[in-house]
Amino acid sequence: MNFEENIQYVKGIGPKKAQALNKLGIENKYNLLTYYPKRYNDQSDITPISEIEYDETVNVKGYIISIQEKISYKGMKIITVLLSDDTGTLQIIWFNQPFLARSLKKGMNLFVKGKISYAYGGSGQFCIKQIISYFLLDDEQNEQCEFLPIYILPGTIKPKFYRSILTDTLSDLHNIPCALAESIRNEYKLLTKADALRKIHFPKSEEDIEASRKMLIFEELFMIQCGLIHLRKIHTQNKHGIHCLLNSTLVKKLYSALPFKLTADQEKVWSEICNDMQSSTPMQRLLQGDVGSGKTVIAVLALVKAVENGWQSALMVPTEILARQHFRNFCLLLDPLGIKTGLLLGSLSAKEHRDALQQIKTGKWQIIIGTHALIQDKVEFANLGLVITDEQHRFGVAQRAYLEAKAVHIPDVLVMTATPIPRTMTLTVYGDLNVSMIRHLPPGRKNIRTFLRTKSAREKIYQFVLKEIKEGRQAYVVCPLIEISENIKTVSAEEMFEKLNTGIFKNINCALLHGKLSAIEKEQIMQDFFANKIHLLVSTTVIEVGVNVPNASIMVVEGADRFGLAQLHQLRGRIGRGQYKSYCILLSDSKSSKTVERLSLMEKINDGFVLAEEDLRLRGPGQFFGAMQHGLPDLKIANVLSDVNILLDARKAAEKWCANKNPMTEIIRTINIQYKNDFLKITDI
Ligand code: ADP
Ligand code: MG
Repeated sequence: MNFEENIQYVKGIGPKKAQALNKLGIENKYNLLTYYPKRYNDQSDITPISEIEYDETVNVKGYIISIQEKISYKGMKIITVLLSDDTGTLQIIWFNQPFLARSLKKGMNLFVKGKISYAYGGSGQFCIKQIISYFLLDDEQNEQCEFLPIYILPGTIKPKFYRSILTDTLSDLHNIPCALAESIRNEYKLLTKADALRKIHFPKSEEDIEASRKMLIFEELFMIQCGLIHLRKIHTQNKHGIHCLLNSTLVKKLYSALPFKLTADQEKVWSEICNDMQSSTPMQRLLQGDVGSGKTVIAVLALVKAVENGWQSALMVPTEILARQHFRNFCLLLDPLGIKTGLLLGSLSAKEHRDALQQIKTGKWQIIIGTHALIQDKVEFANLGLVITDEQHRFGVAQRAYLEAKAVHIPDVLVMTATPIPRTMTLTVYGDLNVSMIRHLPPGRKNIRTFLRTKSAREKIYQFVLKEIKEGRQAYVVCPLIEISENIKTVSAEEMFEKLNTGIFKNINCALLHGKLSAIEKEQIMQDFFANKIHLLVSTTVIEVGVNVPNASIMVVEGADRFGLAQLHQLRGRIGRGQYKSYCILLSDSKSSKTVERLSLMEKINDGFVLAEEDLRLRGPGQFFGAMQHGLPDLKIANVLSDVNILLDARKAAEKWCANKNPMTEIIRTINIQYKNDFLKITDI
């Protein structure tokens, strides 16, 4: 069977359904097979109606007490069902599902899943709780089948239909790509891929689910490990590491020109890096340090050390705002030393871009700061010796590997991040990295005081912001969205800017910053903010990483419930960077007790590592890593937190396989069919 055949041509699908499936990432038969069930219709996971809470997503089972049909004034057909399970009643609402009315009957048993909201926009204990359902009920979900697979599907694809095309596809798996050779499957007692796929979709027992998951997780992690080993191999073939001498004039001059004394942690990290760079084994180091802990200065020292030894060095950062900020600051330190620093960004004009490439290629620029623009094919370095990536979790492995591949020698590599990365993930994504930590913030930092407030306090809060601004401070107001959206009820930056700029702050210089502005506009605003010409900056999360304006001491986060804790901590890290007392005010009207619990942790905890752990615990890895764009491929089945043991086995197997120079063809064929994004795209076999 051709597993890469476009899904559109599979019997019964056609262009319209294909489009809906494409949205789920299903473009061919292989994707269909690896779109795994979200869960199995497990009837034990039912919440009694009396125990459901607002904002919670629950499974409820009950019988129908009454059915009502109405037409809204907009002509929309509304079906309201009152469901009881003898512990309480719940209202279920469907819009525009005329066929549904016929299939629903009083007394009928119903299984529904959905998010609980309050009827009539009300709130509080006595208000009627309801589930609004936009999708047709799947009648099969009410079947008494213990292991019926449940998939996340759009309304246009009926589960029954989906299961039928799956059954067809599963009927012929004889040449399904598989990364695991028989010897490995035997060694680790794993099912064949065909068996695993059949059993994950249509299990007959708990054991089936467990065994198929084990095989598929193992294969996925094995593939990533082999991919990483292979990538490293092609990039380092016939290359040697670079090796630097002891610190000499340039580094010493820079060191004594620093506006502060390094902390003990920074000193320790710096000496670890020096040792790595002075050794002929290529440096592979991860530098972890909370927001504001002072990682940048370490980067500058390392960049200059490489330059002092005759190498070019590059710093890759995730946003242009951050690249430009680093560039400004670096020039202040490096121009006096006679070091040429350059900036490579996607937004440069064609001429600037051409010039930049020339400067990089001829080696005139010794230190290059840039965004993803650095990894484009056209960029050629004269003699790249050190690669640093800042806020590493924002980049994929492949992106870093591309940059490293641009060096003729094996470059030294330093990756920096403020986000604590669990060990499993470090192994998955980075292979073996040595870890350095900056545990304590530089001296003299005042703890940021954080408050969680409801919107009723908004007036008072902005009065306070105004007072601080009048005393010379600057403030950020962060909003979850750029513009008003119909579907999401929260504050937008544009709306907030209008309101503040024409209202209470009308005599204050305000600006609006978001991702849709041009690079030049963004840069102008950041420069003005930095130069204290703008006193209030209303912004989206574009300021989330790295921005450093020490005079800004106050931040208001609107719609704070829409952010994860790790992200709020990153945002909060924009303030408390100078000598001033800093305040972070989180505004949220969420009534969900879970949300309030989560946000109030921000009031108590200032340590980013502790917060991230809490966030992970409360939201689960999916959302936590989802929000922080970890640079992992879209893992189909493995879980970076819980599958440690399988990971360790898969890693061992991968190392052995690659060390023995076993064939990679089938593994790479599987990688390339499974990952469409460029995470591990391997073309040069
Ligand atoms: P991050 O680790 O989040 O990248 P930065 O490198 O941007 O943090 O540093 C945050 C602030 O701390 C900067 O203003 C920097 O100049 C300052 N800083 C760094 N190291 C020290 C130090 N040893 N003493 C005082 N201030 C420092
Ligand atoms: Mg930083």
